[in-house]
Amino acid sequence: MPTLRTPALVLRAYDFSEADRVIVLFTQTLGKVKGVAKGVRRTASRLNGCLGWLSRAELQLAGRENQDLFRITQGQLLQSYPHLKENLPALGRAARMAELLFSLTHDHQPLPEIFELAETSLSLWDAGTDPNMVGTWFEWMFLDRMGYRPQVEVCQQCGNDTEHMSYHPETDGITCRACRPHGGIVLSAGTRKMLNKLIASHPTLLPSLRLGEDAQTQIQTLLDSIIRNHLGRPLKSDSFQRAVCDLK
Ligand SMILES: [Zn+2]
Repeated sequence: MPTLRTPALVLRAYDFSEADRVIVLFTQTLGKVKGVAKGVRRTASRLNGCLGWLSRAELQLAGRENQDLFRITQGQLLQSYPHLKENLPALGRAARMAELLFSLTHDHQPLPEIFELAETSLSLWDAGTDPNMVGTWFEWMFLDRMGYRPQVEVCQQCGNDTEHMSYHPETDGITCRACRPHGGIVLSAGTRKMLNKLIASHPTLLPSLRLGEDAQTQIQTLLDSIIRNHLGRPLKSDSFQRAVCDLK
């Protein structure tokens, strides 16, 4: 059977039989795939150490490239992000990230740039960078790379750039108050500037950026609305919090 090696992040895991577990992985090479880890429930398997929730590992997968279920035959832990896992706000944001990768990407869809975004976010959370800043950056960049980011520069009806604009989920765009005085999610000029800065900034600059309370609330409402539109439901990251306890 052919094998391949790839860096991978562990998104979730569930018991498969008395001895085995199925691990959902977000890999650098193949995107999201599932792999069975044989014997990990029964013995002190060396694989156990590298298949913790949100760990990054170099894994060897046996199977053909488009196979539904690979066999995880070898693994080497690259990073377990121990500080992130002791920081509840960071863990909450990381759980949202894992759910987005799980729910909004297709199996076998290689997304190396998004893999890199996820890896960078985990490292920043682990290093103690503001959890909300990193989470906001990841989600906005993720939506951009998936082609789901609306433009927030000018009114989609008249083309003007005014102080007060609103985002309307049903048209996936922003309008000024003159064109549409009511409804939508308010985005101030400062918030829109921050959204554009997030897209343009190198991740090493994130620790120096500050999100004001208003901008944080407006951006979070915007992100939740876009995600809900594409997912057909709100995120339910609670299950991931439970997975933490299960896999640690
Ligand atoms: Zn307008």
